[in-house]
Amino acid sequence: MQGTMKAAVMTKLREIVFAERPIPAPGQGEVLVRLEYVGICGSDVHYYEAGRIGNFVVEPPFVLGHEASGTVVELGEGVKNLNVGDRVCLEPGRTCGKCEWCRKGLYNLCPDVRFFATPPVNGVFQEYVAHDAALCFKLPENVSMLEGALIEPLAVGFHAANQGNAGPGMTCVVTGAGCIGLVSMMALKARGVSRVFVVDVLDKRLEKAMELGADGVVNGRTADVNAEILRLTEGKGADLVIEASGSETATRSAIGYAKKGATIVLVGYSASGEETLPIGMCLDKELVLKTVFRYRHIYPMAIDAVAAGRVDLKHLCTDIFDFDDLPEAMERSVTDKSRIVKAAIRIAREQGGIS
Ligand SMILES: [Zn+2]
Ligand SMILES: [Zn+2]
Repeated sequence: MQGTMKAAVMTKLREIVFAERPIPAPGQGEVLVRLEYVGICGSDVHYYEAGRIGNFVVEPPFVLGHEASGTVVELGEGVKNLNVGDRVCLEPGRTCGKCEWCRKGLYNLCPDVRFFATPPVNGVFQEYVAHDAALCFKLPENVSMLEGALIEPLAVGFHAANQGNAGPGMTCVVTGAGCIGLVSMMALKARGVSRVFVVDVLDKRLEKAMELGADGVVNGRTADVNAEILRLTEGKGADLVIEASGSETATRSAIGYAKKGATIVLVGYSASGEETLPIGMCLDKELVLKTVFRYRHIYPMAIDAVAAGRVDLKHLCTDIFDFDDLPEAMERSVTDKSRIVKAAIRIAREQGGIS
């Protein structure tokens, strides 16, 4: 496809301007996707506000955005798994396929991964992208494009639930009710956990957690979290905690209310990247501490769970903005964190079909 497309370019901290860029041509094994929805991730907001996450530093001009869905509009050479017109969601990370981790099936740990909107690789707040056909997953008819864009964060939630071997009979706690905490809660439920309690300090987020199926919530600002979790679990504590807030306080209290032999899965990054924890208590209780970095081959399962009605992605988004309003959406994501639980950008209107 010839011509130019609109791209939203971060030019400096807290500034996004629109630019015309050439529409990319799909190479061997790639498809050209006309993007329809792209979610705003906490990492996008962080890059926009602070210009870096750890050692990843934005060098403007830079395009943010990595939670995407769209329609295949052109096939590169050798593509057999997709056709023009297919509705797809995009897994953002291209890996080398050759290193030790790729060969072991731990491809999320590939040192050469090129991931949308992780410097120096540009993201997809733009109208088109050429992407590996193998990383574009067809959406069933009953999964909307908006849900398709949210498969990316849901995959993180499923990876966290998998790391914790979540299943029936467990009592779980999720700390942090932002997007990742909420999708982790839903992934736990989809894996058959019947009791999931959610802890946060913002009522708006806790309301969202209840709306999406949490079995109980605790506001850590007003309640004694430890006492409240013990009360909710008849004094037994939690079998599994997924920590999605990045708060040291949350991790410390999780170590307190975790059952002996329980697992704590750390998903949230703390602001400094460091936390001081009561490791002695972890040893006394023989706790298992695990971590999560993105996900590996979870899209098919996550899409299936949404199609089967086991995960409610429809009601996760609190705010949807048109592409033209992306600068405002990013700014409000910084200034209005307590109100916007999850925002997504409508890049283009879907042509026919459900939206
Ligand atoms: Zn994300
Ligand atoms: Zn690799």
